[in-house]
Amino acid sequence: IFYHIVQAPPDPIFGIANAYKADTSNTKIDLGVGAYRTDEEKPYVFEIIKKLEKEIVNDPTLNKEYLPIEGLADFNKGCQKLMFGQNSPLIASGQIVTAQCLGGTGALRVGFEFVKRHIPGDVYVSKPTWSNHNQVIERAGLNQFEYPYYEPKTKGFNCAGTIECLSQARMGSIVLLHVCAHNPTGVDPTEAEWLQIADVCKRRRLVPFFDCAYQGFASGCIEKDVYAVRKFAELGFQMIVAQSFSKNMGLYNERVGAVHIVTSNKDISARVLSNLKIVIRTICSNPPAIGARVAAKILTDEKYFNAWVEELKTVTGRIIKMRTLLKQELDNLKVPGNWDHITKQTGFFTFTGLTPEQCDLLTKQYHVYLLRSGRMSMAGITSKNVRYLAESIKAVVQN
Ligand code: PMP
Repeated sequence: IFYHIVQAPPDPIFGIANAYKADTSNTKIDLGVGAYRTDEEKPYVFEIIKKLEKEIVNDPTLNKEYLPIEGLADFNKGCQKLMFGQNSPLIASGQIVTAQCLGGTGALRVGFEFVKRHIPGDVYVSKPTWSNHNQVIERAGLNQFEYPYYEPKTKGFNCAGTIECLSQARMGSIVLLHVCAHNPTGVDPTEAEWLQIADVCKRRRLVPFFDCAYQGFASGCIEKDVYAVRKFAELGFQMIVAQSFSKNMGLYNERVGAVHIVTSNKDISARVLSNLKIVIRTICSNPPAIGARVAAKILTDEKYFNAWVEELKTVTGRIIKMRTLLKQELDNLKVPGNWDHITKQTGFFTFTGLTPEQCDLLTKQYHVYLLRSGRMSMAGITSKNVRYLAESIKAVVQN
């Protein structure tokens, strides 16, 4: 029965994690998967998460009954406030439909399945984008095209190219936009550039589909980082937003996320929700509870919220420090080329500009694991390995 099935390639990101694990070198560095590490190269569990999780697990009033299909109500309300603002008029008017999902990926999958069923159209994704975007959109059965997001010459955002491409998009197409800390490039539009994107979306009646996986990691401020979503909301857009807590609460394996659909009024919201529930029911029936209960406590209680924000600042602060350190080391070693983009780009990743061949050499000869696109997860750099990393980069650049 299964004889005809051919071997599929490993996932480009998780495949690297496995290769790193199998490497026995004591100088190895993991710059593949976007997961935070401490300066001791250890995974990190937020203190506030540990505390609240303990309380929840031991709470005798809670049980293991199924959650509603759309998830935990308190969590969904908290997600709306974090994304759209405490006093968002859209929340008050019932224009936002929200459902808890299995992380950001689950939100994307549910969102695109909804698109396919109810507002099918071409999907425009940034070139490049997170590799799983392409797969998720394809599985939903939608056609996709690329807009020229990244300009290799400037190592920055190609605003003119993006606007020109979207100006040609078929009316009613969907545009997938990274809210902040773009993966893999670390390059975000400025506020003025977001307005230009909004303008072309209005002109071509494009439906924005925002992906927010790194709130807090770009500017270090959770409010500022969702500027684009709040601005589009203020401009009256109907849109979809996928929200993940994997990185900013460190809840990776708890699969905590949400999808929001902004409609034009409360009655339409009720109809949208009823159909969104059918999509979710057929994909995973209903979501898991513990991670969402922890996140809900943080999002609905000011003292927990403040504790989380403080801890998140420590996490993002370490990544920013590693950017500065790596750039310093490269400059000190006089590595050929300009490395300013390391400190200019934001979030988890640096798009180094290294070629696939240089990346291969870094991995094979120097045990430094990163994507062949040249994407480096800055969270894998520590004050102890940064010098070795810079020396390894120097060696492959001069090769
Ligand atoms: N979108 C982007 C751009 C991401 O980088 C990620 C995580 N790597 C996700 C969505 C999905 O996040 P999650 O792990 O919550 O599914």
